[in-house]
Amino acid sequence: MSKKQFKAESKRLLDLMINSIYTNKEIFLRELISNASDAIDKRYYRSLTDENISFNREDFYIRISADKENRTLTITDTGIGMTEEELENNLGTIAKSGSFAFKNEMETKEGVDIIGQFGVGFYSAFMVSDSIIVKSRALDSNEAYKWESKGVEGYEIETCDKDEVGTEIVLKIKENTEDENYDEFLEEYNIQSLVKKYSDFIKYPIKMMVKKSKLKEGSESEYEDYFEDDTLNSMIPIWRKSKNEVSTEDYERFYMDKHFGYEKPLKSIISTVEGAVSYTTLLFIPARAPYDFYTKDFEKGLELYSNGVLIMEKCADLLPDYFSFVQGLVDSADLSLNISRELLQHDRQLKLIAKKIKDKIKNELLLMLKNDREKYIEFFNNFGKQLKFGVYSEFGANKDVLQDLLMFYSSTEKKLVTLDEYISRMKEDQKYIYYAPGETVDKIDKLPQTEAVKDKGYEILYFSDEVDEFAIKMLMKYKDKEFTSVYSNDLGFESDEKEDQNETDENKELFKFMQESLSGKVKEVKASKRLKSHPVCLANAGDISIEMEKVLKMMPD
Ligand code: ADP
Ligand code: MG
Repeated sequence: MSKKQFKAESKRLLDLMINSIYTNKEIFLRELISNASDAIDKRYYRSLTDENISFNREDFYIRISADKENRTLTITDTGIGMTEEELENNLGTIAKSGSFAFKNEMETKEGVDIIGQFGVGFYSAFMVSDSIIVKSRALDSNEAYKWESKGVEGYEIETCDKDEVGTEIVLKIKENTEDENYDEFLEEYNIQSLVKKYSDFIKYPIKMMVKKSKLKEGSESEYEDYFEDDTLNSMIPIWRKSKNEVSTEDYERFYMDKHFGYEKPLKSIISTVEGAVSYTTLLFIPARAPYDFYTKDFEKGLELYSNGVLIMEKCADLLPDYFSFVQGLVDSADLSLNISRELLQHDRQLKLIAKKIKDKIKNELLLMLKNDREKYIEFFNNFGKQLKFGVYSEFGANKDVLQDLLMFYSSTEKKLVTLDEYISRMKEDQKYIYYAPGETVDKIDKLPQTEAVKDKGYEILYFSDEVDEFAIKMLMKYKDKEFTSVYSNDLGFESDEKEDQNETDENKELFKFMQESLSGKVKEVKASKRLKSHPVCLANAGDISIEMEKVLKMMPD
């Protein structure tokens, strides 16, 4: 037996691979499990095309075992295995993917979703291993072979003993260094959680003997350890089950199991789209904003799966900022992933999915508003501010998406109303949609400026959120009706009030006196035509209202 060198380019590539392609060491387990799953798929495919081969689902599994003393982690599968030649070709040549070739050859068959395509995943195991041994026996072969490598130095292949068809991969896990912890890859608990995180929806069982404890027989307080063979993954993704198999409660339980939130979501949305890019998405509208939602720490994004394998935990590009509260995931087999699977290659596909998701969320919210107003108001109380920020940001580019989702407190209805509802109640002679900014609904209701508009019998929207007026300045109009503040000089109707009294001598003196007394606090004191039951009111000069000025003053320069 002689040591073979990796091909020259491969040597450099391997070094690059181990040190820089992946940012996250732990994904090696995902890669090895994905390969094992591919191998079982291939065996399954053979059974479909060759009637001499039977396929019993129960016989196909992936097994993980860790040996802390010897620092080995073993991943075994009952897949198709590799011949000597395949070991040589598929593991001896970096960036050669037997799976990619297989995928290209076969016609699409139900139940076969090959994951591999780049021919580099296997080598990610060198990020955590000093050496790797692969023992494999191919289907239809009486011989088994052992491939062994310590990384860049090359590899050796020799015959070995192996009774079962399939592959066994033994990683010799590195010793801890000052900066890096490798022990964790031998910890049962950590292995379980890595499988859950990345490979939960691999469709074959991933088994491990797991240490458990139980009350000692005859004892009420003494426990003893025992081992049990556990399946670590849940195998079938809930979003791939047919809709009539899954209840709303199932989705809600999934939401909580996934730690998307601590209480039941307000709404679960599942949809499958077939087209230029096919995908399934499971989205949740949370019942409450997470504690950090309105802070810089909050990270938006959906989980992204490719064929049931987690690619990205928070794919921010899938959600617009104004819907950043949405939680959930997208699973698509059509994404072109880059080599590390940590990034996507084509933005185009992702953009297409993102656009459809945006439309879907909008439509679901509109439906909720129409069919379950109480729920919608609960939603709006939590996330309405985000929608209003959405109208304001990007120079109003998203106002068409969002305007029908907005609600404001109405002076006449004494509750939240939509702009459309406001419009439907407008009086025939009413020119504008009126709003009044202020700190709270109560305070706004007492504003002297609202009186003239109320007297006309017109409805006023009360803007008590700081962002309200900014958003409406971006919106400008709703269904051709302009917005105007009750502070505005032009209210769109003739005031019933008496003549302008500014010019009388008596007032001149009085106003002059007031202005001097309040010098530096107000710009000008003058008579108002609007006041009825109030002696005095504050008004802004120019376009920026007093409320907006308060906000602008608080902003850092
Ligand atoms: P990819 O999965 O992208 O093809 P990998 O580097 O992960 O690339 O694996 C390279 C090739 O080695 C695979 O395409 C497959 O042909 C073969 N291989 C790897 N692991 C196994 C396994 N457990 N059983 C059978 N073949 C395997
Ligand atoms: Mg692979």
